[in-house]
Amino acid sequence: MAVEPLIELRSVNKYFGDLHVLRDIDLTVGRGEVVVVIGPSGSGKSTLCRAVNRLEPVQSGTIVLDGQPLPDEGKALARLRADVGMVFQSFNLFAHKTVLQNVSLGQVKVRGRRKEDADRRSRALLDRVGVADQADKYPAQLSGGQQQRVAIARALAMDPKAMLFDEPTSALDPEMINEVLEVMRQLAAEGMTMVVVTHEMGFARSAAHRVVFMADGRIVEDRAPDEFFGNPSSDRARDFLSKIL
Ligand code: ADP
Ligand code: MG
Repeated sequence: MAVEPLIELRSVNKYFGDLHVLRDIDLTVGRGEVVVVIGPSGSGKSTLCRAVNRLEPVQSGTIVLDGQPLPDEGKALARLRADVGMVFQSFNLFAHKTVLQNVSLGQVKVRGRRKEDADRRSRALLDRVGVADQADKYPAQLSGGQQQRVAIARALAMDPKAMLFDEPTSALDPEMINEVLEVMRQLAAEGMTMVVVTHEMGFARSAAHRVVFMADGRIVEDRAPDEFFGNPSSDRARDFLSKIL
């Protein structure tokens, strides 16, 4: 597939003290590609996501976003970080801001939009993720599924080039998982470049272009979903799948 690379990691290594958590990671995510990352707990999936937008520094290797190496600090880093929207398991909304303020804040601070423009865009995005009627509430007044959809709207409000999702549905009650996955499916269908850490294998099968399986800080498999689920080539992946499917 001749896709233009949007996120590129080359020989990335990351340690926490003596613990080698990312081992020679080579990963390219093409524009418009949806890559699902799976693997056992502690395999380095979250660290990988965090490394991509420099929430975690890495000790060696290069990370390139849309042709530009990630800067280490400063305003350039803040802008590049906003180019990669991040959605976490724990929603991470500002508790003392309304839903609308949550979505508008970064647009004003980082993208330099006028407040009225930011609010207009926020309302459109809240409508798109199905929570337009919650705009003036505070996060604690919303269900987990609604909060996570607000978090997605907030990330989208920055016009990101790519979105990273780190177990976005793991903290949700079962009946709310689908409403969040549905928003993600929609995004994928619209061509958003996405890296999604998830245990939702139905999503991986239906929405992913590639499945990356990690174990012990390494990428062990990187294949199309039907190949991966139909015939995982490594014992580690077979073992993992036998436990979760
Ligand atoms: P996953 O998301 O696949 O469960 P993580 O990326 O969270 O894995 O963690 C990979 C490894 O790094 C684990 O062994 C974890 O305990 C360790 N780790 C993660 N964050 C830190 C940290 N801030 N300090 C020390 N060790 C960490
Ligand atoms: Mg994790």
